[in-house]
Formats: sequence, C-alpha cells, structure tokens
Amino acid sequence: MRRPFIAANWKMNKTIRETESFLNEFISLVQDAKDVDIVIAPPFTALHTASTLLKNTNIQLSAQDIFYEDKGAYTGEVSPVMLTDIGCKHVIIGHSERRQYFHETDEIINKKIKAAKKHTLGVIFCIGESLQERESGKTFDVLKREIEEGLKDISPDGIVVAYEPIWAIGTGKTATTEQAQDAHKYIRERLASLYGNKANEIRILYGGSVTPDNIDALMACPDVDGALVGGASLKADSFARIVKFKR
Ligand code: PEP
Repeated sequence: MRRPFIAANWKMNKTIRETESFLNEFISLVQDAKDVDIVIAPPFTALHTASTLLKNTNIQLSAQDIFYEDKGAYTGEVSPVMLTDIGCKHVIIGHSERRQYFHETDEIINKKIKAAKKHTLGVIFCIGESLQERESGKTFDVLKREIEEGLKDISPDGIVVAYEPIWAIGTGKTATTEQAQDAHKYIRERLASLYGNKANEIRILYGGSVTPDNIDALMACPDVDGALVGGASLKADSFARIVKFKR
C-alpha cells in the first residue's frame, strides 16, 4: 500500500504573519491524522517561520522551487543546501507555472531533480498537459516526454510525481475521476518502463482544482495516491478536510 501524500502549494501567497496564523489553526486540526504524509510549501520568505512552527508536528516542510548549484554567483536563486539548512524535506520541481512563466525546460528540471536528490530532498515532480495538447490528443505524448526527460538518469527513491493538467489548475475545472485515473495509470506504466516493479511504490498525486468536495472521489481512484493543492490549501479548515479525505 502506498502511503497517501497530500501537499499544499501556496504559490506567491501568505506573509509571515499569515503563515503563523494559518499554522496555529491547522496544526491542531490535523494532529490526529496519522496515516498520511502532510506537506506544506510556503513561499521562501515564510520557510523559516514555518520550519520553527512545524517542529515536532506531523507536517513536513517543502519549498516551491530550487536551483541546481550548491552556491555561487546566481543572483536571486536558492540552493539545495539552503533548503535543507532551513528544514525543508521536499521541493516542488517542474510546476507548470515555472515551465510557462520562467521558461523551465525538461533539461533544467532534470538538473534540479538531480541537485535535490544529491541533498536528500524529496521531490514533488510536476507534469501535465495543456488544454490544447489534450484537445489534439497529445496528452500521453506530453506525459511520456516530461517523464523520460525529467527523470533521465535519476533513481526513483524520494520521487513523488504530481499529475497536474494545466487546464485544471486554478480554473475550478477538475479532471473527472476517469480522466485522472487514465492519466495516472499511464504515468505508472511509463514509470514501470523506467523502474520496473519499483513503479508500484511511487506515489502519484493529482493536482488541479482539488477541493474538500472532490477529494474523496479522486482518492478512490486506484492510481491516485494523494493531491497537490493550490487554492484550497490557503484556508486551514479547507486544507484540513482534504488531508482527512475519506476513501
Ligand atoms: C497547483 O498549482 O499545484 C494547483 C493544483 O492549484 P489549484 O489547486 O489552485 O488548481
């Protein structure tokens, strides 16, 4: 059995004070949730505050991005060493917003995953097709390319894959359970072609307008092992309900 993994991606939201107020409420709401990995990815500026508040809780800290060098003249970037130093256990890599707005290629993403793994950070590796790609029947081709290029020469330990159809992110349009399961099944087949039986141990999350109202149905799909949640992770009670999904 794969242990469920529910992660919050706050994107560019929440100041230090807002992070404190969210966590003070959220930590107590989920303290009894034992059979699930709970992960929160605040913006860089709130990582230190979150790290301090999350000590000795059942919630793990993630960053939303990383750079692939340990140190040096890379103005504005944050290294894997800095992320482990501040208490991060995971990092989100390859989010569609980074691919789209910051021109991250499969090659850059591959370098970032290697750098994160070198420093034993868990990786939440995001993949997914645009609406145009889906409508022109290219969904599986896109997923195949992103998996094969992103995970080139990378071992599967510490990798969690997040399937996030771009057309479902922040739009209120969730994939149907059939669409999610089909894509997750295909992703697991591709992972099996890279890693053999180990693919059965890799968690595959769904992301794209997940809410307290659709999480239970999504988690009932055999290949959906968790969720990466944007908008609905910004309110403590809503994200707590998602963490406490019912199967
Ligand atoms: C995300 O950005 O990873 C995401 C899934 O966002 P939302 O839940 O808001 O669609």
